[in-house]
Amino acid sequence: MKTICDFCKTEYSLDRVPNGPVKCAVCGHTWNVSMPPRRGSVLVFIAAVCALLAAVVFAVAVLYQNRVAEIQEKPLIAELVDVTTTTDDDDVTRFVVSGRVVNRSDQIYGVPGLVVISYDASGNVIERQHFMPSATLVDAGGNVQFLHTLSVPVTNVDKIAVELEAQEN
Ligand SMILES: [Zn+2]
Repeated sequence: MKTICDFCKTEYSLDRVPNGPVKCAVCGHTWNVSMPPRRGSVLVFIAAVCALLAAVVFAVAVLYQNRVAEIQEKPLIAELVDVTTTTDDDDVTRFVVSGRVVNRSDQIYGVPGLVVISYDASGNVIERQHFMPSATLVDAGGNVQFLHTLSVPVTNVDKIAVELEAQEN
């Protein structure tokens, strides 16, 4: 082990921990030599923990940034909540879709038009039906409900999706 004179910084190599104080041969300063603490391994451990924490913080920050960017790009989303059916006087059964437009931003938005898309079992679009929800504004962090009856009969309809009109390409 090594010990250094506190006063003149002369370094000495010791083969064991001395029982009493050590006197410096250069300057005459005396000091007590203690067992070297296991500082090295503790520091490595702390460094590893810090690196891990930094990685976690970085990952969370990236996720948060992605989320913020996604919300800025798409502040409103349309969610399909339920699909039921209704049968009219002519015995034609149609799907009734209910859902909500969710405002994920911190600003009030006007509610855009919606498109209900019905697909057949092969994934082909049967119809794209546009409609306006009854609510015209959606508060920051709030949502508005919508309810819409499809114009096409249930026959062949395998899947239904709702999109905001603005998201159409
Ligand atoms: Zn000394």
